[in-house]
Amino acid sequence: MEIEIRGLHKSFGDTPVLRGIDLEVARGETVCVIGPSGSGKSTLLRCVNLLEEPTAGRIVVGGAEVTDPEVDIDAVRRRIGMVFQQFNLFPQLTVAGNLTLPQRRVLRRSKARAAEVARENLARVGLLEKADAYPAQLSGGQQQRVAIARALSMGPEVMLFDEPTSALDPELVGDVLSVMRRLAADGMTMMVVTHEMSFAREVADRVVFLDDGVIVEEGPAAQVVGAPRHERTRNFLDRVL
Ligand code: ADP
Ligand code: MG
Repeated sequence: MEIEIRGLHKSFGDTPVLRGIDLEVARGETVCVIGPSGSGKSTLLRCVNLLEEPTAGRIVVGGAEVTDPEVDIDAVRRRIGMVFQQFNLFPQLTVAGNLTLPQRRVLRRSKARAAEVARENLARVGLLEKADAYPAQLSGGQQQRVAIARALSMGPEVMLFDEPTSALDPELVGDVLSVMRRLAADGMTMMVVTHEMSFAREVADRVVFLDDGVIVEEGPAAQVVGAPRHERTRNFLDRVL
């Protein structure tokens, strides 16, 4: 099991946001997390790489217990790539610079090796020809693909996506989703928070419906999105589809 979440609780102050999440993601599996705004989707992803500290529960990623107080958080984060709604590229660096800097700083790769890995991953997202451009010269969709390539350049075992296409103009969404589709097909282990139900249906091995901090329903996409069993899931899907 690549990601194992057991009894995860997260409160902010007195407010419980995650109220007992149990979830497993197998190696090479893509799990889409859907649910209303405020249901705890981002908090769930952020707990997996300890951007948020769980209030209770246990999370294991690739055999290492993230929630072990003794764990080397930086070592764990190196194995987990995260892509956000906002691309968070360094505006003063070229595309290539965005990909090489974290490799040099965090992984201590040589300049030549970092550049080589950057080129491989830019090619993977179809943006090799933009290596010398600056983020501001790219469309939102291209910037998000650079953000994905930057995360991939760190050689993660797991990729977390938090609504990666929500900030994009509709015509730019498709290219980002194709990159993610290919990544899933290549066997990456992925957790994807998304409102793109067609993507979930097509790519997810499993869909998890989160509402009010609990998993209400989970199963194959065809079931959860196509034939939901719970009224809360149906109500949500009626609103987004
Ligand atoms: P989603 O991603 O599903 O929209 P979030 O995980 O962002 O939901 O948020 C779930 C709930 O937790 C919301 O009510 C939100 O206001 C609250 N919340 C998230 N982050 C914080 C924080 N840092 N401090 C206090 N409350 C937070
Ligand atoms: Mg969110």
